[in-house]
Amino acid sequence: LDKVPKHIKEKLGHSFKNEENESENRAATSLINKLIRRSLVESFHHVEVLQSDPKSPLYSVKTFEELHLKPELLKGIYSMGFNRPSKIQETALPMMLAYPPQNLIAQSQSGTGKTAAFVLAMLSRVSPNKKYPQCICLSPTFELALQTGEVIEQMGKYCEGITVAYAVRGNRPARDCVIESQIIIGTPGTVMDWCFKRRLIDLLNICVFVLDEADVMIELQGHCDHSVRVKRAIPKTCQMLLFSATFEECVWGFAERIVPDPNIIKLKKEELTLANIKQFYNLCENKEDKYRVMCNIYGAVTIAQAIIFCQSRKIASWLYHTMCRDGHCVAILTGELIVTERARMIQRFRDGEEKVLITTNVCARGIDIEQVSVVINFDLPLNADGSIDFETYLHRIGRTGRFGKRGIAFNLVEKRCLSMMLDIEKHFSTKILRLNTEDLDELE
Ligand code: ADP
Repeated sequence: LDKVPKHIKEKLGHSFKNEENESENRAATSLINKLIRRSLVESFHHVEVLQSDPKSPLYSVKTFEELHLKPELLKGIYSMGFNRPSKIQETALPMMLAYPPQNLIAQSQSGTGKTAAFVLAMLSRVSPNKKYPQCICLSPTFELALQTGEVIEQMGKYCEGITVAYAVRGNRPARDCVIESQIIIGTPGTVMDWCFKRRLIDLLNICVFVLDEADVMIELQGHCDHSVRVKRAIPKTCQMLLFSATFEECVWGFAERIVPDPNIIKLKKEELTLANIKQFYNLCENKEDKYRVMCNIYGAVTIAQAIIFCQSRKIASWLYHTMCRDGHCVAILTGELIVTERARMIQRFRDGEEKVLITTNVCARGIDIEQVSVVINFDLPLNADGSIDFETYLHRIGRTGRFGKRGIAFNLVEKRCLSMMLDIEKHFSTKILRLNTEDLDELE
């Protein structure tokens, strides 16, 4: 398979520097999760299925063999270390590979195997000996397109004659170039250019059209319209597939414009819970006082690994420098770092090379840092109006107590915010104990 052109790959991760920009941040989060992911995200929920034709039989598979794939494709799948289909793949794959082709909208959290599923579908549908584009996959950003391209290249490495072309900024085929690649992966604007302006792709030959990360897509200006324009020029017989990690109302509206007559598959996210987490708070005067209290806690509990959340980059940076000055070994993760640096930092933390990670709200939201035993809220998460942000609170500390493990969370609270502790207790029907940092025996 074609490799990603080097000059393009070099740009990976050099955008998304601005963490204040929500939509870019969403795309960045999605990329970071992909960069740091090593294995499937488990879900213990059942897959919900809504068939476009409720009378047609519903198949699900427990093995890849049952799908009767080309041997070279099966070899590619096993070479990636996949032993059996993920939960969403069990239902999605038979649907995607059925004859006549069926349209699909699938939603499940990131890491559950959506990309691998549609890559497999594309690779199994294309004819290697036909040297023209047959599948198009739209990704929201340059980086995400490259990531998906890599999965296609990996899974298809034994599929001789199949190549991928990248319709992304910076990749401009020569004027008289004929695209022989069967699979086109790109961003909506550039794909549209290749189709309509430069006439490099004949849309009448497209048999699979994939739109990935619909929830990120709708946040980015112009992407929806461009995607819809491409879709409209593709024959109605083409299989349309759309994927999203979340499903807000606006995503549905967009999905329906892209995918007519869809089967729908949904897999609920594992709920976060505060059940296994001991929560404490401590009343503090100001940030210096918070720092003193934190150092006390630090000295008292054996902290395997901790994440410390701050409200702003400024406080995170102050805390980082103060802790370093006092001889603590800490790392910092903020939106100032480019995406690949952020991913590398998270990786170091996950590998245990960093024990303590200071981070900000915006930067850490939505990133799967997995298991940590201790979370410290140096600042409570607040909404723009100054009220407590329950969702973020749950997300920050809910991860400490996953899979029956016990976690511990400390809230450093300025006196004027005391009522927020009560708000949290009421909202989650949970208990937050006041901690006397002069006597920390109760922690052990
Ligand atoms: P999503 O698109 O939903 O974010 P991915 O397809 O990227 O999920 O899969 C998440 C991770 O799990 C990737 O590292 C991928 O290689 C791996 N993976 C996907 N399907 C399987 C499978 N059937 N068995 C084992 N690992 C898988």
